[in-house]
Amino acid sequence: MPELPEVETIKRAVEAALKEAVIERVTVKQPCLRQNIPTDFAKQITGARIRTFERKAKYMLMHLDNGKTVIWHFGMSGKIKIESATTPNEPQKHDHVILETSKGRLIYNDPRRFGLIALCDTTNWRKNPLFINLGPDPWDESFSPDYLAAKLAHKKTTIKVALLDQTIVCGIGNIYASEILYLARIRPDRTAESISATEIKRLIKLTRQVLQQAIEAGGSSIHDYVHPDGDIGYFQESHCVYNKIGLRCPQCRCNFAKTGGIKKIVLGGRSTFYCDTLQK
Ligand SMILES: [Zn+2]
Repeated sequence: MPELPEVETIKRAVEAALKEAVIERVTVKQPCLRQNIPTDFAKQITGARIRTFERKAKYMLMHLDNGKTVIWHFGMSGKIKIESATTPNEPQKHDHVILETSKGRLIYNDPRRFGLIALCDTTNWRKNPLFINLGPDPWDESFSPDYLAAKLAHKKTTIKVALLDQTIVCGIGNIYASEILYLARIRPDRTAESISATEIKRLIKLTRQVLQQAIEAGGSSIHDYVHPDGDIGYFQESHCVYNKIGLRCPQCRCNFAKTGGIKKIVLGGRSTFYCDTLQK
């Protein structure tokens, strides 16, 4: 599933390819995604020029010059492919939406169809039901130590589950939650309310750092996620604990023979990886 760094990477690549392009033709082959694509989708965006892009949580926003914004979410398996206008490839299975523009073709492919393509008015996209309950992005100033302390106070769920709660902070996915807690030296199964003020500051700093590094590396590539330009991201090579069960963690000083290395537990239904020695 594309997480925040992957979506940011997709956004940057699509922006580089299609900024200021005019949408000339829109084909919707399969409107049934997580939500149905609006029936007048093609009519509303054909002829418009693509102005700017933004990302909120795992959504990519494509602002057009006609006052409309196209909202993209990639669900479990959504991908965007960009092709030059002169050399279109053969259509592939699960190519659901095609935007032909003055600068090339954008193809939305999604085998499992949990993604979403929606339209809203640019002026009030933040009030869209998709975004209204989302917490701040990790880099927002409002994601402050006081804010996070208030959100975690009296919370009996584990810190790992709290970090995945998109109403608290958006964009931390399952892989990054394990990585952030490892670097912060915090056990993932501690209750949210037990996290100290010092640890909260560390968590905020490391959340920003880990996600920023992942964006710079071009996003993780787990399973079938592919970049718009066809390259595969390589952040997974720098994961410390995620999917590394039984291996030594990068900074481990423990008696490996005794501990058996990185452990896996399930919290909130999601796989969680940590080092029993380093994380307290
Ligand atoms: Zn370790």
